[in-house]
Amino acid sequence: MSDIIQLLPDHVANQIAAGEVVQRPASVVKELLENSIDAGANTIKLIIKDAGKTLIQVIDNGKGMTVTDARLSFERHATSKIRSAEDLFSINTKGFRGEALASISAIAHVELKTKQDGDELGTLIKIEGSTVKHQDVTVTPKGTSLSVKNLFFNIPARRNFLKSNNVELRHIIDEFHRVALAHPNIAFVMYHNGSESFNLPTSNYRQRVVNIFGGKTNEKLVPVEEETEVLKISGFVGKPEFAKRTKNEQFFFVNDRFIKSAYLNHAINSAYEGLIKDGSYPSYFLNLTVDPKTIDINIHPTKTEIKFDDEHTLYAILRSAVKHSLGQFNIAPVLDFDRDNNLDTPYDYKNKGVSSPSVEVDRSFNPFQEETRTSKSTHIVASYKKEPAAQWESLYVGLESKGTKTERHFSEVEFESESENTSLFSEDKLVETTQTTYQLLNKYIISTIKSGMMILDQHRAHQRILYEGFLKHLTIKEAVSQQLLFPLTLEFSLSEMELLLQLKEDLEHTGFVFSAFKDNTISITGVPVNVPESEVSIILEQLISDVEQEVTDSNFSATDLLAKSMSKSLAIKTGQSLTKIEQEHLVNSLFACKEPSVSPTNRVTFITMSVDDFDKKFM
Ligand code: ADP
Ligand code: MG
Repeated sequence: MSDIIQLLPDHVANQIAAGEVVQRPASVVKELLENSIDAGANTIKLIIKDAGKTLIQVIDNGKGMTVTDARLSFERHATSKIRSAEDLFSINTKGFRGEALASISAIAHVELKTKQDGDELGTLIKIEGSTVKHQDVTVTPKGTSLSVKNLFFNIPARRNFLKSNNVELRHIIDEFHRVALAHPNIAFVMYHNGSESFNLPTSNYRQRVVNIFGGKTNEKLVPVEEETEVLKISGFVGKPEFAKRTKNEQFFFVNDRFIKSAYLNHAINSAYEGLIKDGSYPSYFLNLTVDPKTIDINIHPTKTEIKFDDEHTLYAILRSAVKHSLGQFNIAPVLDFDRDNNLDTPYDYKNKGVSSPSVEVDRSFNPFQEETRTSKSTHIVASYKKEPAAQWESLYVGLESKGTKTERHFSEVEFESESENTSLFSEDKLVETTQTTYQLLNKYIISTIKSGMMILDQHRAHQRILYEGFLKHLTIKEAVSQQLLFPLTLEFSLSEMELLLQLKEDLEHTGFVFSAFKDNTISITGVPVNVPESEVSIILEQLISDVEQEVTDSNFSATDLLAKSMSKSLAIKTGQSLTKIEQEHLVNSLFACKEPSVSPTNRVTFITMSVDDFDKKFM
């Protein structure tokens, strides 16, 4: 039998390797930016067209390459950064595998222009799918310009696999942020489709964070500094009250390299324990410096995961450093671990009852403010703690005659947990009905029906009602809005702004009126009827987070998503007690819906039990 094993030709090997290094345009961006940093550049320009599908270009003023190096740089395993296996233990550069340029040039049209300081002329090389098409001398400034066009031109399957431009651009911006955050001493500019998206001058770390995430970030940063024998920590964490609903302000850098570490993330979360509510994430921008010998960055081809020799120690140091900073800046007052979690709910506004319009929105509930609230609420907190029976008593409220002691107690609790959301039920609905409803555990509404009984999930039911309402407004485009006395100004990062801009028109159809929509700032002069001003920033943040999660799914509809997201933010929550009238209104409105049986996210809204079912149980 003849031999059958052959060595793969280089261009095939490169294409295979490329699959590992280049998943999407953002991977190219990362590799090129890192090469420029390794080349000692202090100004780096990133130019993107059509989310990188048409063009990705990086121009730097680094040390450039000689003719020979320029040619060699596209060979696989060609690197100037390590020479022997030992060097792997003292890596101070971003790259070291010598794979990026070989991989990229295997699957795109690449043009390199490079010149070293002191040379009169530079080198121009054009490569398409690993084949050198053109090489020449050229006039070019000191440094390197590398442009990558038509990514995946020879792998149609990969090209078709790319997501929408919005999604791909988000990935690119994420990579850009990571690299720019790790190097505040380098100036970065980014252009997308001819307009400037970011302009980040060299600055200190705080300014870099603020330049990327917007002016509002400044006030929320708390410095963290710690130096021990094994680890140096520097950077910032966010004040707990600014915790976000998304994880997109969480950054760890180890020796100037962005990394992901669930374990270290856990250390931070544990430092915030009791300070932020579930579903919120603290912001952090932390640089860890360790001896390169104590880490292994080689375990992942795209190098965002690394292995530490002594993770446990790092965990402990990190946690205590963050705790210390939060404490030092008087952000972590005395903790009360006996608190009833049910009271730490988003619909429990600390600003409730304040009537003057305020521009600063209380974006998150601070559980510690609770203790200084009115004596009335303290009394209720106490009564919850000391009399667990009270909750049981409230079970019978609907069945008792008016004026009993229990009912008075119940109505106090009810008042306390009532939110502005209740205005969703307009007063003119105060109609007498004979239907009897009953609220169970502030979660379910029980209603008698002809055949027996119906149990309805109040949160899901209300979501359905709001969702259909918003959808209607969005489709017929004539929502009613309520004018704000003073415009509400909110700040967002540029990438969040980009996202909101895409939804602006739809938001207007729900009743939002914007007077300004530029740079980092949105001014709102009108909001949809029944949307409390204090909820606006929560709605928009929720929306951003929903869109970010949803867009990965290519066929999402902005209208539907907006309606879903807003109904999620605004629906009455589990734990909120409702008056009889509200309960009845909820039931009636649900059955006026087109699809009453499921929530907008397809969860069951109610179940029924017939008298027959009961009879069977009593047999
Ligand atoms: P690695 O970065 O792992 O060494 P690359 O394929 O990314 O591998 O780059 C190969 C080599 O090309 C680098 O080691 C470097 O010497 C050179 N190079 C790449 N980009 C630049 C640049 N922007 N400026 C100067 N040299 C560069
Ligand atoms: Mg590289």
